[in-house]
Amino acid sequence: MNFSSRHIVVTGGGSGVGAAAASAFAEAGARVTIMGRTEASLVTQGLPFQVCDVTDPASVSTAFGRARAEQGSIDVVIANAGAVESMPFSRMKPDDLNKMLNINLGGVVNTWQSALDDMKARGWGRLITIASTAGLKGYAYVSAYCAAKHGVIGLTRSVALELARTGITANAICPGYIDTPMLQRSINNIVEKTGKKPRDVANTLRSLNPQDRFIQAEEVARSALWLASDEAASINGHALSLSGGEV
Ligand code: NDP
Repeated sequence: MNFSSRHIVVTGGGSGVGAAAASAFAEAGARVTIMGRTEASLVTQGLPFQVCDVTDPASVSTAFGRARAEQGSIDVVIANAGAVESMPFSRMKPDDLNKMLNINLGGVVNTWQSALDDMKARGWGRLITIASTAGLKGYAYVSAYCAAKHGVIGLTRSVALELARTGITANAICPGYIDTPMLQRSINNIVEKTGKKPRDVANTLRSLNPQDRFIQAEEVARSALWLASDEAASINGHALSLSGGEV
């Protein structure tokens, strides 16, 4: 796949899935801009970047404006930035819920909206988000995260219908547990809360995937490459499960 005529924006591009996706698109010849809150981690990727907080529409809009000025109008956007916090549902406060909705759902809205005008003007575009199997099924102790990711799937299906005649597609990638810093933080968190051994916790999470393995960030990146290609023009409003058969 050759993306040499495309400008791709990846949020959360300083680590994990976002870094893998950014590097896969750069290898495929694309102009890539990565975004995130922490300049230090963006710098280490060696790609053009803009600092922004995806929960803040003004911050995202400014970052997209700068990215556009530096590398041209935007063809593909990967709303990947996300975060997870765990707690029993009975202890969840409104702020906990809002935090998960703001980053995991509001962040996708802000990111996709900032790219829309460019895509409409060109009559071609790819809106992609990294949702989760947590958008397709429930998991105990992460109800706010699951609610937000389910919301992302609904958002994707609706946006896809709205834009179906514009040359723009909207799709969600739904991986199971991926081997990234987020997974490591989740394992540490469970260890801290339960006193279990890290290896046992990792084994339990890994075994949720029927293939008994963690998804690799590069696999997610390759799915994004395909969804962004011309070959995937008919894939619209889809939630692509990358979970070894878990969902
Ligand atoms: P990481 O924690 O490695 O990456 C998340 C990225 O998002 C970071 O680069 C972070 O950078 C950025 N980010 C977080 N909050 C914001 C914000 N408010 N504004 C801008 N950027 C932000 O995790 P992953 O790579 O694993 O996660 C990527 C996506 O994949 C997430 O949406 C996650 O929900 C999803 N996912 C992850 C799974 C897993 O097991 N790891 C499983 C299924 C889905 P910074 O903090 O510097 O802003």
